[in-house]
Amino acid sequence: MPGTLPVATIRTQVLVPLRFLDGFTTTARVFTFAGLVDDREHVALGLGDFAGPLPAIGPPASVPLVRPHSECLTGDVFGSQRCDCGPQMREAVERIADVGGFLLYLRQEGRGIGLYAKLDAYALQDAGLDTYEANLALGHAEDERDYTVAAQMLHALGQRRVALLSNNPDKAAQLTRLGLTVIETVPTHVHLSPSNASYLATKAKRGAHTLDVPLVSEPSA
Ligand SMILES: [Zn+2]
Repeated sequence: MPGTLPVATIRTQVLVPLRFLDGFTTTARVFTFAGLVDDREHVALGLGDFAGPLPAIGPPASVPLVRPHSECLTGDVFGSQRCDCGPQMREAVERIADVGGFLLYLRQEGRGIGLYAKLDAYALQDAGLDTYEANLALGHAEDERDYTVAAQMLHALGQRRVALLSNNPDKAAQLTRLGLTVIETVPTHVHLSPSNASYLATKAKRGAHTLDVPLVSEPSA
């Protein structure tokens, strides 16, 4: 319902040089927003050509590669091996920087249930439930993520047509319903490690994720 999508505006934009643990460096233009529907502090990182000043980005011929990345404190920051979020984010930043686009960092930890509930769910998984069953056992939906704020951010950035870097068909479906044109969906690699293998298998089986893409084995360092 694009007609009812509340308008968000850009609040601040600031250049932040990035350096990842493996030495990869790039520069992001970090955008903050006013008017996001859930009042959380979501940010967009403009990368590659889209790290330029806003008036210059997004000429009509240029379609940004966009990855909506859901915050995962344990995976993104601490390198948790229970999921593949950290390697997914690292891959996304480099691939977006190569061709130009945005990483939308969405503060919806644990598929939207929050950090503590996610850790509670891990405990239930250690008792034998899979990731979706554990969320249900805690009284949450299998996946509570809502991409309204992602659509709001893209509108504020002047982007109506995007290429989506994702294996999750729900992201493309929600963004399309929210008035964006997804011209292409580009799969991410699968980042397999011994401790996230069953998580990834469950994601493929229960979440209809497209994971028939090249496997990338994580170094076991
Ligand atoms: Zn994660």
